[in-house]
Amino acid sequence: MRMIFIGPPGAGKGTQAARLVARHGIAHISTGDMLRAAVRAGTDLGREAQRYMSAGELVPDEVIIGMVRERIQEPDCARGFLLDGFPRTLPQAEALDAALSEAGIALDHVLVLEVPDELIVQRITGRRMDPETGEIYHLEFKPPPPEIADRLVHRKDDTEEACRARLEAYHRQTAPIIPFYEARGLVRRVDGVGSLDEVAARIEAALGA
Ligand code: ADP
Ligand code: ADP
Repeated sequence: MRMIFIGPPGAGKGTQAARLVARHGIAHISTGDMLRAAVRAGTDLGREAQRYMSAGELVPDEVIIGMVRERIQEPDCARGFLLDGFPRTLPQAEALDAALSEAGIALDHVLVLEVPDELIVQRITGRRMDPETGEIYHLEFKPPPPEIADRLVHRKDDTEEACRARLEAYHRQTAPIIPFYEARGLVRRVDGVGSLDEVAARIEAALGA
């Protein structure tokens, strides 16, 4: 299964992606995670990306496209993959299309997770990540166990200000790619409001349909 996950920042893509890849045995490709790893490693790419990320802006297409093109050729993608946070612009969607048709593979689903803007700030500002396991928590909606509280990470771009910039980027640059896939009948829209389990069940239903 090869699929793309689209949705505003903080919609729950990472949370649901973790369940989906475990269940379907496919690779999880999160461009946000890849960029954060590059920032931590202090590579040239990381240094360039960081400026955009901390402002809540998108990293330039040419940086991200090369990264994904290489990643989808790795062996763990042979059984399928879930692209989380890519493509985010029309040029990225077109570049992905070209790379996939060159490799002779097709997309099965484009999952769009819908969460209204007014719920997003709350989800983003309460998000915490466990750097040891990669598990995503929320102070209110998925409280972390107290014994790991000291090591939890609050992303620098998970402030209200950067979150508003990211939402704006989503509506202006990312949402317009949905019609690109809609024309091909690939889009499955899922309501992202509800408990983690409710949303997971809706996603499985949408993929089965
Ligand atoms: P994204 O990858 O789309 O940015 P995340 O999966 O990181 O989103 O989720 C953002 C925050 O919202 C996290 O703190 C997560 O625990 C929380 N969250 C995810 N799904 C839900 C949900 N259905 N209801 C409430 N909070 C959620
Ligand atoms: P979220 O889902 O919470 O918005 P991500 O972890 O997917 O966050 O992305 C964090 C940041 O990384 C984005 O705000 C952007 O700066 C950068 N980024 C991630 N993926 C892309 C992409 N496909 N194109 C451009 N920038 C990206």
